[in-house]
Amino acid sequence: MSRAFNFSAGPAGLPEAVLQQAQEELLEWQGERASVMEISHRGKAFIACAEQAEHDLRKLLDVPPDYAVLFLQGGATQHFAQIPMNLAAPGQAADYLLTGSWSLKALSEAGPYVDAQSIASSEGDGFVDIPDAQAWSVRADAAYLHYTPNETIHGVAYDYVPEAGAVPLVADYSSSILSAPLDVRRFGLIYAGAQKNIGPSGLLLMIIRRDLLERTGQARARIFQYAAHAKEGSMLNTPPTFAWYLAGLVFKWLKQQGGLSAIARINAEKAELLYRTIDESAGFYRNPVAKRARSVMNVPFTLHDPELDVAFLEQSKAAGLLALKGHKLVGGMRASLYNAMPLAGVKALTEFMTEFARRHG
Ligand code: PMP
Repeated sequence: MSRAFNFSAGPAGLPEAVLQQAQEELLEWQGERASVMEISHRGKAFIACAEQAEHDLRKLLDVPPDYAVLFLQGGATQHFAQIPMNLAAPGQAADYLLTGSWSLKALSEAGPYVDAQSIASSEGDGFVDIPDAQAWSVRADAAYLHYTPNETIHGVAYDYVPEAGAVPLVADYSSSILSAPLDVRRFGLIYAGAQKNIGPSGLLLMIIRRDLLERTGQARARIFQYAAHAKEGSMLNTPPTFAWYLAGLVFKWLKQQGGLSAIARINAEKAELLYRTIDESAGFYRNPVAKRARSVMNVPFTLHDPELDVAFLEQSKAAGLLALKGHKLVGGMRASLYNAMPLAGVKALTEFMTEFARRHG
C-alpha cells in the first residue's frame, strides 16, 4: 500500500477506516449476498441503511425535528438554480453575500429565476476578506439570503453567522459541513455536495426547515421540487445508493472520533500549524487572506518566486504529499485539510515546506 497524504480540494480524501470497511463488505453486504450497489433502494436492507445514515447525521449536527434532511443529486451547482426555483416566486428579490468564486456562481445561476442581487461583496479586494456583519442589510421582501460559509478556492471563511431577521438564511456548506458544530436553527436551508467532508461525489446533502417546503416557488416538474423529495424520503427516484451508504459510514466514523467538537479541535490544530509555517517563513510563503477570515479547510498560499512552483509540486508529490496545486484563479498552492486529513499529514507537509524553503531561500 502506498496511499499518500491527499490535499485535494475535492473529490477529497476519505477516512482510511471507512474505505477499508467498504472494501471488506463490497462484494457481499449485510448477508444480502450482493453488493450494496446491486440491491433495490426500496428493499428493507437499504432503507434501514439510509435511515441509519440520516439518524446519525441528525445526532452529529443536532438537527431539530422541524427540519427535513434530504439526500439528493445534482451537486451544489444544480442547487444554485434549484434553490431559487423552490424558495422564490418568479422575479422575487433574493440577496447574496459575495466572498469568492462559489458565491458568485450561486448568484449567477439564480439569475434566470429571481431578482438576485449582491448586497455585499469583497470582490474589489480580490476576495481576501468577509464583509463586516454591520456592513450590509437584507431587502425586507427577499425570499432568502444566500452566503458561502467557506469559499473553497479563495480560502475565505466567515467567523460569524449572518443575521437576516425573518428572511431565511441559505448556506452553501459544501466545503465546511461537519468540520465543526453549527446551530442548524439559525438557518432556513443548508446544502453541501458530498465530495469533501461527507463521501463520494454524486450526492448532495440538504437540511431544510419544513415550513420552506410549503413555498409554491416556480419548479414545475416534481423532480425539481424539494417538497416532493421530502415527501418520498429522498426516494422519488433512484438515489445514489452507494454514496448514501458511504456517507453513513463517514457519519459513524465521525461519531467514533468524538463528534464535531472533537473534530473541530483537530481541524483548528491542523490549520494553525500550517498558517504558522506560512507566516513564520519570512515571506517565502504567503497567504493573502485577512486573519479573521482564514479558512480552516482550504489554505491557499503562494511561493515568493513562482519559478519555484514546478519544483515544489514535483518534490512534494515525490514526498507523498498529493494535489497541492492551487486553483488556476488564484495560482500558487492550496492545501485542503478536510476531516479525513490527519494531523500527521499536516506535520509532514509543514516539515516539507520548511525544508524546501531552507534549500531554496
Ligand atoms: N460550492 C462550493 C463551496 C464548492 O466548493 C463547490 C465544489 N468545489 C461547489 C459549490 C460546486 O460543487 P459541484 O461541483 O458538486 O456542483
